[in-house]
Amino acid sequence: MSNEYIQEDIEGVIKLGSYVFDETSEYDLGESCDWVKALFDELEEQTDRDEPDYKKGMISCHLTLKRKSGKPFGDHLLVKGNIKAAYMTPCVRCLTLTKQNVDADFQACFIPHHLEKEPEFEELDDIFTENEEYGLYFHTKGNADIAEMVHENLFMNIDHFPLHDENCLGLCHECGQNLNEGLCKHHKKQ
Ligand SMILES: [Zn+2]
Ligand SMILES: [Zn+2]
Repeated sequence: MSNEYIQEDIEGVIKLGSYVFDETSEYDLGESCDWVKALFDELEEQTDRDEPDYKKGMISCHLTLKRKSGKPFGDHLLVKGNIKAAYMTPCVRCLTLTKQNVDADFQACFIPHHLEKEPEFEELDDIFTENEEYGLYFHTKGNADIAEMVHENLFMNIDHFPLHDENCLGLCHECGQNLNEGLCKHHKKQ
């Protein structure tokens, strides 16, 4: 049966042993959760938060965990989740801060680490179980690195070449002039 109680914190690496088989645990995580806060800080790694244009964004992560047993995986963990963030980062061309949004759903299945060497799982990125597709992850002796899995799903869904405007003219390579604000002597029309 599903558990109605929603929790606001979870360790980055969880122990399967502390979860009851077939019971659902639900989490609504924000910056009060250390590793979620760390993800937000990483999104704004290049950002100067003292700039006047800087506006505080948000991050939230929703997780549903269910520990399962039985063939063919043995003790395994199913995770369904969503990660959302609004953050500011410099435009790759002109460095002006630009607001970015990411909203990604993911499903992950953590199976025992020793199965990683089995030919059946060696080449797989996804597995099919309970009539759904899950990203394949491994837990080591019952330790599942949830934070790393969410990190991977977050960073494969962000824009790695953010532009403050799709027509951004960038900076002059000679003098550093922001060409959106006006042309420098290197870019004046002939
Ligand atoms: Zn720009
Ligand atoms: Zn110039």
